Amino acid sequence: MPVHLVDHPLVQDALVALRACATTPDQFRQAARRISLLLVAEAVRDLPTEALKVQTPLYPPAADGRRVGSDVVVVPVLRAGLGMLDAVLELVPSARVGHIGLQRDEMTAVAAQYYAKLPGNLDASYVLMIDPMLATGGSAVAALEVLRRAGAGTIRMICIVAAPEGIALVEQHFSDVLIYTPAVDLGLNAQKYIVPGLGDFGDRLYGTV
Ligand code: URA
Repeated sequence: MPVHLVDHPLVQDALVALRACATTPDQFRQAARRISLLLVAEAVRDLPTEALKVQTPLYPPAADGRRVGSDVVVVPVLRAGLGMLDAVLELVPSARVGHIGLQRDEMTAVAAQYYAKLPGNLDASYVLMIDPMLATGGSAVAALEVLRRAGAGTIRMICIVAAPEGIALVEQHFSDVLIYTPAVDLGLNAQKYIVPGLGDFGDRLYGTV
């Protein structure tokens, strides 16, 4: 399974806030940011670094250090992925940002692309695709196809709740893409929402329920 389960106590605590139906949009945004910080930190654990010397106020000698040694590109899948973007940029301020817009047809649950704007030279970048709900996997696969067509090599996908169906579809099409998530839920309901899930992430994030 290309799934990396993130079982940190603080991740699980934020997930409870996201799931609870009493959580208001401002609390939801806060919890989304909190959980995203922790998930991103885990997803970039093998990010290449480069060694350097750093001069402290007490010298000599200089201290040994490491800094991010790879171009990082973060790609939120619109619109729910935007709720995770600030957390990535806080942790990796130098990251470049692409956007992929996919609209799910409410009847068929099939994702159609309406927007894509990506930075260039993705082949040498460490790409983080952020999409909080991995449900059928249809939009994840569509977004990953956009990224691969644009030349992306190393891709990590970060989501907040995943369904087994979505994981299986991503694995079938992109077995090299690691999925970071704190939760693999039971499955999908008739409307293709994850159960128990947390409802419609975008609606809860923006108060458009
Ligand atoms: N998108 C959501 O926001 N929630 C789901 O449960 C599935 C897809």
